[in-house]
Amino acid sequence: KGLPHFAKGEVIKGFGRGSKELGIPTANYDVDVVNKLPDEVEPGIYFGFANIDNGCVHKMVMSVGWNPFYNNTKKSMETYVMHKFDSDFYGKTLKVVMLGYLRPEKNFASVDELIKAINGDVANAEIKLEADELTSFVGLRLFQNST
Ligand code: ADP
Ligand code: MG
Repeated sequence: KGLPHFAKGEVIKGFGRGSKELGIPTANYDVDVVNKLPDEVEPGIYFGFANIDNGCVHKMVMSVGWNPFYNNTKKSMETYVMHKFDSDFYGKTLKVVMLGYLRPEKNFASVDELIKAINGDVANAEIKLEADELTSFVGLRLFQNST
């Protein structure tokens, strides 16, 4: 349903809700990139690959949607790149390929539960990207060849 989906755009300031302080920074795209998402791509959590300024390719998890936890009114695409970076990369070009779907969006009773869920998403993304070799291989190949 709309996957794989490739997206490319500048990393902008997000909603400043301090995901970084939670240990889970999420790189935000502007609306132009979000508007290119096919309608079939439902809100939820996705996994795939990402890179910054055509650098090394890393695994990623992305939240698409309305962020019910924060009562958002705006659609968003927020990417957690599964790599430890030395510095922020605002203004740089983030490329992603979304390969698979992990779960729908959920409301969480507490920040603790939210963090637990995200850590679970990261673990699941690891497993899927390792286990589903074909998806992973094709995705990675396509990704590295796309511009
Ligand atoms: P914002 O509200 O501006 O999105 P966050 O707290 O979500 O702030 O942090 C996101 C920023 O952190 C990204 O725009 C990026 O510059 C930086 N960053 C550092 N490491 C990562 C990472 N592994 N994944 C995503 N963003 C990261
Ligand atoms: Mg963010």
